[in-house]
Amino acid sequence: MPVDELHVIKDNILKHEEWRRSSLNMIASENITSSAVSRAVASALSHKYAEGWPGARFYQGCTYFDEVELNSNSLFYRLFDAQYVDLRPISGTNANLALFFGLTKPGDTLMALHTSHGGHISHTTFGSAGIRELDVKTFPFDEDAMNIDVDRTIELIRETSPRLILFGASLFLFPHPISEVVDAAKEMGSLIAYDGAHVLGLIAGKQFQDPLGEGALIITGSTHKTFPGPQGGMIVTRNMENEDLARLQWGIFPGVLSNHHLHHVAAKGIAAGEMVDFGKDYALQMCKNAKALASALAEEGLSPLCEHLGYTESHQVVLDVSKHGGGKWVAETLEAANIITNKNLLPWDPIEQSEDPSGLRIGVSELTRLGMVEDDMKDVAALYRKVIIDKEDPSMVAAEVTSMRADFQDVRFCHEWDAI
Ligand SMILES: *Cc1c(COP(=O)(O)O)cnc(C)c1O
Repeated sequence: MPVDELHVIKDNILKHEEWRRSSLNMIASENITSSAVSRAVASALSHKYAEGWPGARFYQGCTYFDEVELNSNSLFYRLFDAQYVDLRPISGTNANLALFFGLTKPGDTLMALHTSHGGHISHTTFGSAGIRELDVKTFPFDEDAMNIDVDRTIELIRETSPRLILFGASLFLFPHPISEVVDAAKEMGSLIAYDGAHVLGLIAGKQFQDPLGEGALIITGSTHKTFPGPQGGMIVTRNMENEDLARLQWGIFPGVLSNHHLHHVAAKGIAAGEMVDFGKDYALQMCKNAKALASALAEEGLSPLCEHLGYTESHQVVLDVSKHGGGKWVAETLEAANIITNKNLLPWDPIEQSEDPSGLRIGVSELTRLGMVEDDMKDVAALYRKVIIDKEDPSMVAAEVTSMRADFQDVRFCHEWDAI
């Protein structure tokens, strides 16, 4: 007889899958993978070691995996027009740690976004930047534009000559001003990197912005947010000095990794192939859906940020729900209605309010992958109104969500495993 826990684990996996099939997952950092990506994750590559480079491994048995890694890398070279690609980082945070360990020393200054303004914990002194003992200066921020304040940032770069300037965010509505600060960064000898964790799929699909073209040398990122791959990280670079690149590689291996996750490298490659074949259409539809959802939510009486700027240029919409019960109540009640989102601090919230912030962060990556378009966003916005404004019984709304979701069960913008 198997131990009881095995049954509990299996049963809850199945329940989770059933719930996910019948709900609207609108967590901005999540997505749904194609059957081909899932198949690669479940492959026998998951129990293999491959330290070293293709053709020069420390372990035998990599004959086939070498081809997998080379071809996966080559698709990323193509998507990002990169001069160096590294798919070994096992998460976005792991990629950022490698960046910090490779290219900074303790005591160096890092310029990054404050968490209240949408920055990620790995950019802070209580996260990865702190473990590298970096002196973090946060970007001056324009709360009205929900973006970095260019003039004050240029001043701060000249004042503090940071070793590393790290753009990118977790709450991310509009492209960051990279080209605007390139001259000041050059003057002060600062390296520019871009954390594309959230927007990697938009960048690969040629929407949003082109960080390497605008003057960043390095993009770090997660491969599972708007990029429709497995959980994981990656780094791509262009125009880096050889010495810096060698240090970055050292940061990755053996700095913050021994073995990388080979099944995830394969799955990243398959997702990259999907982006080469379908990425432009997918990314464009994601942006259209986010804008359509924001307008529809406003029409229903809710308050998305940045109406004066067209609400958003990314996959995200940010709602101010302070007048509708607050972030905690709204997120929990939506969950009871099978609409999965997350509460979020808004820039003007005091940090003590983290448990019950004013904001709700919404993403449309998964709904877009399931084939929803602008008109469907109106239906989704009406469901939000029923829960948040009309205060309808969430279990009744959950039934409506489930019935709507029944029409959207297949992942688009991909090939079936058997067709590749
Ligand atoms: C999500 C996120 C990360 C971390 O990614 P993981 O893959 O979860 O480690 C890093 N940076 C930003 C800006 C993010 O939003």
